Amino acid sequence: MRLETMRAWAEIDLGNLEHNYRALRACAPNSRFLGVVKANAYGHGAVTVSRKLEELGADYLAVACLNEAMELRQAGIRMPILILGATPPELAGLVVDYGITQTVFTPQLAQALSRAAGERGRRAKIHIKVDTGMSRLGLLDHEPVRTAREVEQLCALPGLEPEGIFTHFANADGDEDYTMLQFTRFLDTLEELEAKYQRKFEIRHCAASAAVLNYPCTHLDMVRPGVALYGHYPDPSCEGLDGPGLLPAMALKCRVAAVRQLPADTPVSYGCTQSVGPEGGRVAVLPVGYADGLHRVLSGRGSVWLAGKRRPIIGRVCMDMCMVLLDDEARVEPGDEAEIFGGQLPVEELAQLAGTVQYELLCAVSSRVPRVYL
Ligand SMILES: *Cc1c(COP(=O)(O)O)cnc(C)c1O
Repeated sequence: MRLETMRAWAEIDLGNLEHNYRALRACAPNSRFLGVVKANAYGHGAVTVSRKLEELGADYLAVACLNEAMELRQAGIRMPILILGATPPELAGLVVDYGITQTVFTPQLAQALSRAAGERGRRAKIHIKVDTGMSRLGLLDHEPVRTAREVEQLCALPGLEPEGIFTHFANADGDEDYTMLQFTRFLDTLEELEAKYQRKFEIRHCAASAAVLNYPCTHLDMVRPGVALYGHYPDPSCEGLDGPGLLPAMALKCRVAAVRQLPADTPVSYGCTQSVGPEGGRVAVLPVGYADGLHRVLSGRGSVWLAGKRRPIIGRVCMDMCMVLLDDEARVEPGDEAEIFGGQLPVEELAQLAGTVQYELLCAVSSRVPRVYL
């Protein structure tokens, strides 16, 4: 479909992605680079983004789950892919067949991978996950002696290739003390593994976007940014500080479906929660709704960029459409382009109005919305 006839689309600027990649690499010049492409590359299109990262020379990709990893392999992506999440032990064979690196933190999955690798005469690459304080996945890592023993037990199984070990920070854009406590736990465990078991890992990693930007000491062998790669600061208040000058890669756009002149006090949209007011008014109907990723919580709250200005959303956001109020001067016609978020309206602003984070609005852009690559 041509751009002129699309109802709504997400413009992805691969030049900006490349800029962010280079800027982040310059922040961590001595570390390998893993690009996080989970959740369809934060809505940007996992296959295209992965191809771009491959071309740019990234070292690794990471996804949340096996399906995401298989999609990339099926699209011909050859570079190493790490599954950050848990994979059911029953699926260990697929992990090995597809040549995917699996995060491991339980004996069950380690054993299943060991067995699957043995049956195939291959080796299963794994990265051990330790939980230094995020309290999500990983071997609890509060006592280095004990953690090291548990890690070693997982790594010692036949057929496994323990290439890496990692942890994840809970508050690297908020709390330096807590981040350093986590980091110290991680380092202590690595030291114990080496001292007691001569176990060394080629790739030790812990820095997602916030730590890539805030804590160079945590970069170690590989950095693991997600949101920053797409041009967003994990904590929007850091934007404009003397950071690396990230550029947002996505803009969500649509074309005006209709312009309506409505008589005095006419209510607009489901529930009749707002009306055009005593003078009557004009609204533009936009073909973007919550099924496209415009959260319904923005009803009567958010605005969109149209005809050179912010235009407030009036009434409830519907599944496939929303309405915005136009002033008398606005020259708007069906087919005109509107921006839901992007260069004119930062997604961070919309996220704040919606009471959420930019991450959620980016990955909410649904599969119905075609991605257009610039
Ligand atoms: C999502 C994720 C990342 C990337 O986080 P950003 O804040 O987007 O940089 C890194 N590591 C792990 C384990 C993750 O789950």
